[in-house]
Amino acid sequence: DAELSTVDPEVAGALAAELSRQRGTLEMIASENFAPVAVLEAQGSVLTNKYAEGYPGRRYYGGCEHVDVVEQLAIDRVKALFGAEHANVQPHSGAQANAAAMFALLEPGDTILGLDLAHGGHLTHGMRINFSGRLYNVVAYHVDKDTGLVDMAEVEQLTEEHRPKLIIAGWSAYPRQLDFERFKQIADATGARLMVDMAHFAGLVAAGLHPNPVPFADIVTTTTHKTLGGPRGGVILTTKDLAKKINSSVFPGQQGGPLEHVIAAKAVAFKIAAGAEFGERQQRTLEGARILAGRLLDAGLNVLTGGTDVHLVLVDLRGSALDGQQAEDLLHSVGITVNRNAVPFDPRPPMVTSGLRIGTAALATRGFGAAEFTEVSDVIAEVLRPGADLVAARARVEALAGKHPLYPGLS
Ligand code: PLP
Repeated sequence: DAELSTVDPEVAGALAAELSRQRGTLEMIASENFAPVAVLEAQGSVLTNKYAEGYPGRRYYGGCEHVDVVEQLAIDRVKALFGAEHANVQPHSGAQANAAAMFALLEPGDTILGLDLAHGGHLTHGMRINFSGRLYNVVAYHVDKDTGLVDMAEVEQLTEEHRPKLIIAGWSAYPRQLDFERFKQIADATGARLMVDMAHFAGLVAAGLHPNPVPFADIVTTTTHKTLGGPRGGVILTTKDLAKKINSSVFPGQQGGPLEHVIAAKAVAFKIAAGAEFGERQQRTLEGARILAGRLLDAGLNVLTGGTDVHLVLVDLRGSALDGQQAEDLLHSVGITVNRNAVPFDPRPPMVTSGLRIGTAALATRGFGAAEFTEVSDVIAEVLRPGADLVAARARVEALAGKHPLYPGLS
């Protein structure tokens, strides 16, 4: 039973290099976070060995008495966290949670209405070559060209015109809150179901810093690794009347054996998310994003919708000589990791783009407060300025990383 470094030095070397990359750079990819050591520990446990097809108390395998405890804890905790009647914690990822949710409610060929990918939606909300775009008849809604806000009049008009069976509210790149109540009214008017994909903002909801979609939606899906800060995975929350449909859609509809080691890590993350420290961290996440938007605007950069209500900021480079790819590369060169992102009505191609998506969740987890967020915002503004001093910027990044060590006990 030799250690990883002995069994496989190549993989061990890459893991060590990744830890050192995470420690030495500033992570501002809006969908990423740093899972607590307790979450890593649960995920790297002997539960990885266990087959447990079925659900707690109703398994198709023997020896499930301990994984039953773990999965029931995860279910009870996530229900309490979001006030849901039913939870399925088995989806391996956010994409699989969405696939199972749609599989439960729709037949192939049914119409769905989702936010256009190019306007901030997710692949699983109806992108052409995704399962959602291939299985279902997709109608897309958009953001308003002037305000950058989701055009609810268009959502209503498209719903009346196309009578979708399912409306999807949720986003991967949008800096404001959605009006769930209005979505629900529009869905109810034609008998459509409403699904909210809160993958990005679930941590803010858990902390009470963002409206909770659970009271309005038939189904809420989420990932557990973004603002929620847990292991990579998915969850489906729903009402009691849809519980059976959702469970059989996940297993045996979509998946085989659940990843009980990941479910254990989800349970730990939900416990942490119910605590006061988590709430304080989400507050710093929001404060950091507001500071970032403000400093970038002050420096003359364009920020979509003029600010943010969530954990991310979308920089609009349509009027800039720099494109999204160049901006991402420049920031990478000084140790700040972000991703380029198409902005609505983007004139540049999708591999280049005219935008950056910058998030604050991971740095808040690292301990950043207002002073550090102000400094990193100013470094970003400097790097995106023509003739920037990149050497000085790199030193400022290193100073910030050094001030908040990541995973001090790990090696
Ligand atoms: N839903 C939304 C809104 C997302 O942003 C993402 C992740 O990018 C997903 C679903 C998919 O999650 P995963 O990458 O775990 O499949």
